[in-house]
Amino acid sequence: METVLSGIRPTGNLHLGNYFGAVQSFVKLQDAYQCFFFIADWHSLTTHPRPENIRQSVKTILAEYLACGIDPEKATIYVQSDVIQVAELYLYLNMNAYLGELERVTSFKEKVRKQPDNINAGLLTYPSLMAADILIHKANKVPVGKDQEQNMEMARKFARRFNTIYNVAYFPEPESFHLSDKALKVPGLDGSGKMGKSEGNAIYLIDDEQTIQKKVMKAVTDAGPTHPNSEKPEAVANLFALMEIVSSQDTCRYFNEKYNTCEIRYGDMKKQLAEDINAFCTPIRKKILEITADTTYLDQVARRGAQKATESAAQTIREVREIIGFRP
Ligand code: AMP
Repeated sequence: METVLSGIRPTGNLHLGNYFGAVQSFVKLQDAYQCFFFIADWHSLTTHPRPENIRQSVKTILAEYLACGIDPEKATIYVQSDVIQVAELYLYLNMNAYLGELERVTSFKEKVRKQPDNINAGLLTYPSLMAADILIHKANKVPVGKDQEQNMEMARKFARRFNTIYNVAYFPEPESFHLSDKALKVPGLDGSGKMGKSEGNAIYLIDDEQTIQKKVMKAVTDAGPTHPNSEKPEAVANLFALMEIVSSQDTCRYFNEKYNTCEIRYGDMKKQLAEDINAFCTPIRKKILEITADTTYLDQVARRGAQKATESAAQTIREVREIIGFRP
């Protein structure tokens, strides 16, 4: 049976980008595949969080995963740092990862530009840790958003390289998985780019109705089109893109027509969008609050996940050690 794997860094709450980029696909796949879903707490160390923040965020993300419909009876849900074998595979992959190729990764170059005072080796080797996360379970499919395509290419490269160096057909080449025909980029509401935690433009699944309404009403737009059927500037296109994701086809068609006939009132559109986002988020938010209160259940899910993920990872490491030439 093919294996699916997905993960999220616990650096805040889940936002609509995480949900529609990765979690939604995973929820759909968990019935038919062997699935691993993990909380990437090692990855989060690149930004040096405080211990109490890590503890809290891991618990929060776990509750949010469960509230989104990831079912611990079907999928293995685990915390990355509970599976020590991932660190061993990361070490092996790093030995065959070259400085030049790591420095060329776009997200690394972006981090260098944005945070010049904290360019640590963890940031540089982020693609090898991500490859270790995937290859440790020999995953075939990885639900990810568009922003992860280059890291996925690196994971494939590292898998191929390992197979070539040791002349084995051991690691499968993992492919990105998306529900539609191409990777999804959920836009932010600040006029450009993607929705993200560090971008400060995210709508979180835990946001209450007023917060969501305020965020949407503040979204960047313009004075409106002056010619029929004109092209949408990026900020407006983003608003429509978000609507395509959360609203019905009829709603999208209605506002597109209004735009094309220059009759659009962004206030009305935002009100509708906020309503549709709320209709989507409210039931999930209620579940998040319910599950977060049940610490015993969360501990139980994490413990069981750690055990199952460790079994799978230990087998890979046993085989990898033998391939490399170490004692079993
Ligand atoms: P991160 O929050 O950066 O740890 O990302 C976790 C997962 O969410 C990855 O699979 C990302 O590709 C996905 N993701 C994050 N932001 C977006 C976005 N704006 N659009 C689509 N997918 C996203």
